[in-house]
Amino acid sequence: MATLLSSLSRPSDSTAIIVPSQKTPIILSHDQVVEQVMNFQKKLASIGISPREAVAIAFPNTIEFAVAFLATTFQRAISAPLNPAYKQEEFEFYLEDLKTTVILLPKGAVAENGEAVRAARKCGTAIAEIFWDGGEITLDVIDSGSLRHRNEVKVEEPSEDDVALILHTSGTTGRPKAVPLSHKNLCRTTKNITVTYNLTPADRTLLVMPLFHVHGLLAGFLSSLASGGSLIMPPRFSASEFWGDFVTHEANWYTAVPTMHQILLRGEFPSPMPTIRFVRSCSSPLSPTVHRQLETVLNALVLEAYAMTEAAHQMTSNPLPPAKHKPGSVGVAQGLELQIMDDEGKHLPQGKIGEVCILGANVTSGYLGDPKVVASPFTRSGYLRTGDQGYLDEEGYLFLTGRLKELINKGGEKISPIEIDNLLAQHPKILEAVSFAIDDDLYGQNVAAAITVREGEELSEGELLSWFGQRAAKFKIPKKVYFTENMPKTATGKVQRRLVAKAMNEISG
Ligand code: ATP
Ligand code: MG
Repeated sequence: MATLLSSLSRPSDSTAIIVPSQKTPIILSHDQVVEQVMNFQKKLASIGISPREAVAIAFPNTIEFAVAFLATTFQRAISAPLNPAYKQEEFEFYLEDLKTTVILLPKGAVAENGEAVRAARKCGTAIAEIFWDGGEITLDVIDSGSLRHRNEVKVEEPSEDDVALILHTSGTTGRPKAVPLSHKNLCRTTKNITVTYNLTPADRTLLVMPLFHVHGLLAGFLSSLASGGSLIMPPRFSASEFWGDFVTHEANWYTAVPTMHQILLRGEFPSPMPTIRFVRSCSSPLSPTVHRQLETVLNALVLEAYAMTEAAHQMTSNPLPPAKHKPGSVGVAQGLELQIMDDEGKHLPQGKIGEVCILGANVTSGYLGDPKVVASPFTRSGYLRTGDQGYLDEEGYLFLTGRLKELINKGGEKISPIEIDNLLAQHPKILEAVSFAIDDDLYGQNVAAAITVREGEELSEGELLSWFGQRAAKFKIPKKVYFTENMPKTATGKVQRRLVAKAMNEISG
């Protein structure tokens, strides 16, 4: 049976988690992680946490998060990780949407009466503070809320169809959707990722993606634990500490969003460069230009992958050698069925552009919430519609051309924003470019682009557009160019075209 409990419980005294710090790093073996998790599961049972209840966990990447997340799922309850940087209203939205029983917060949170505490009190959610005291994780219920009058319940054992995790989608195209993921879904993704990158106990990853999204949780955390490897886990991504942690703790791979790769490219590199088995890029498009720069500078293989919350993260990835990896492509389907379909759900042949649809044991069974409000994402044949558009080349490699909701429809001509971004990124003075649709009296929509110019460089709109016009058909030339130093991003560094469009509109008044 595929549960997180079964996939992590192989006896091993090798290192599972290292939390680097200035003083003494925390180091736990795989056996010790399981022991900690089982102890904490008993504490959850002692305060009455029962199967199918949602437990919110609002932490940066810490040992408290790691243990509480797993213990909740072992208890057949549902882990609901939340970004600790949310404001009160955001916490309220998630706590209510998930009907959360309790929120786990760092020690001292209640005394500080921060955003999460105020939200939990408003929603009647119990508050417990948890803390790594050097030997174990303590748990103190501070506000008993809906836990009041509860007795101790028995320690449970999950089955593979139990929901282990609920995460919301990033809300790029609308209101975030709540995605329940079962033990089976999580175990399948973990296996797919382990197989894709041939992860073994000898691998050591520096985890810089937050654990409150599928990228960090599945590709970094669970895949490393399940493959028997080691995980170096600072609280968050820090460009200045990245290489120190990487070298000191002998990491040999990492996974990150393109924004982080770009930030690293702007900084300094260790000399000599450590041997990096591979670098994974996922969650947003990686322009072929940045891809090649990264491979040259790091002297490492860069493998781009494609993922979504509904698939418990990974759907495709570029493969390890001897198979080819192709800059500009998100690679091949990994452990699932992938088809390109038209609007009616008809399968399209290789080379034809359509919607990417997937079927696999890693895919959610559907969104939470009223089906009248949250439309089903499935086709009649049971494939999940990703909302992304793309095509397969003759070797089965997927090329994404954009999100269906974000295509720029210029008088019926559908323009791929990813294609525009990639072309703009080739300009030597451009650091980052995000294109999007703007209203146009004549065509309905037209192309606009927000540009961040490299430090110390100057670039005029005229110079840029004439350069662009030599490389792309006239109808794709941006009608409007915005220069900005701060490209709006989500907490995970994802570009949201909708937000960029809104912000640029505000800048121009
Ligand atoms: P919402 O579904 O609420 O609109 P979202 O789709 O951004 O938000 P996530 O599940 O976090 O929420 O992101 C999945 C999406 O991210 C994919 O559907 C795809 O559009 C995009 N994505 C992921 N990896 C890549 C990649 N390598 N290249 C391009 N886009 C990617
Ligand atoms: Mg989505």
